[in-house]
Amino acid sequence: MKNVYILGSTGSIGVNTLNVIRNFPDRFHVSALTVNTNTQLLLEQINEFKPDLVVVKDKDAAEKVKHQMPANCKLLVGVDGLNNAAAGLEYDIFVGAMVGYAGLAPTIEAIKRGKRIALANKETLVVAGEVVNNYCKEYGAEIIPIDSEHSAIYQCLVGENIDEVEKLIITASGGPFLNKDKSFFEDATIDEALNHPNWKMGNKVTIDSATMMNKGLEVIEAHWLFGLSTEKIDVVIHPQSIIHSMVQFRDGSIKAQMGLPDMKLPIQYALTYPERLQNDFERTNIPAIETLNFYEPNFEKFECLKLAFDVLEVGGTAPCVLNAANEIAVEKFLNNEIRFSRIPVLIEKALEKIGNHQLLNLDTIFECDTETRNFVRNIN
Ligand code: MG
Repeated sequence: MKNVYILGSTGSIGVNTLNVIRNFPDRFHVSALTVNTNTQLLLEQINEFKPDLVVVKDKDAAEKVKHQMPANCKLLVGVDGLNNAAAGLEYDIFVGAMVGYAGLAPTIEAIKRGKRIALANKETLVVAGEVVNNYCKEYGAEIIPIDSEHSAIYQCLVGENIDEVEKLIITASGGPFLNKDKSFFEDATIDEALNHPNWKMGNKVTIDSATMMNKGLEVIEAHWLFGLSTEKIDVVIHPQSIIHSMVQFRDGSIKAQMGLPDMKLPIQYALTYPERLQNDFERTNIPAIETLNFYEPNFEKFECLKLAFDVLEVGGTAPCVLNAANEIAVEKFLNNEIRFSRIPVLIEKALEKIGNHQLLNLDTIFECDTETRNFVRNIN
């Protein structure tokens, strides 16, 4: 029986993690559920999964549910609650399902305890990849990616030697604006940007897919997960999202991992690796697919993708600036404060303005993140 801590249990990855765990009651026990504000769904989850502890990050939301906790379920509150639970609770697998920079600190706590980290939170590796890798080595923690592209690459690499890899080929659906002209970005509405053709995800990730920043963050994530330089990481547009990514080896052979676009599969793999467990998820009907298309990405149109490759070359705190500026810019777009086309512009302004530190530790990252957010909040 493995005990699971779910950081962010009411978001899209958190809910799917519970959908997987529901199938294997003899294999997994939920130790901790954590949410930001969605206490209504949390109460349903507590009722079904009977965790030992829950954390509600938002203090007002916590106040509302504190009298509805079962006697054997402890309630912690705030960011301290997330960190203390990660640092003190009994669990075997930490599922990093929370979106955004806020997922970093509790993930670090879990790494320091040498746990298995099933990681969906991209920002952990994007802003602190080097620090995270050093901690993993020092404390013996292992990261198994949940992001579908990285899970695909991870699966392609089982039994292979990383030194024999020529390149990683990360597939991208291209998002809702793949076939629109760049001029369309001026007037793109929130609803249009949130209308993803293949994947059902939270709002932040869906907007990131529309700008292709999501793919940019995934390139940085892949760099830290697999230790390969930017020249060895390609992005290819594949609108059907059936091939989740590929690995090309030095003899020219290419391995691809395929399946329906459903996050339950990479989540289950991260929970059960190296085992593959029987499930009844929908199967891919290969003849029904008929065609798989591939195209080069348009870096001129999707400036965010280009910026992500650039910051990986610069290194230091540049990826942290990119990530923080993007989070605020996306928030502003979703609040109707800026046009869709301004998202890369605000990120570029932040990269010009905020000084780069090459010596990384959690303090310099935290300062850089705060400085960038404050800067971007005040420009339009
Ligand atoms: Mg992905």
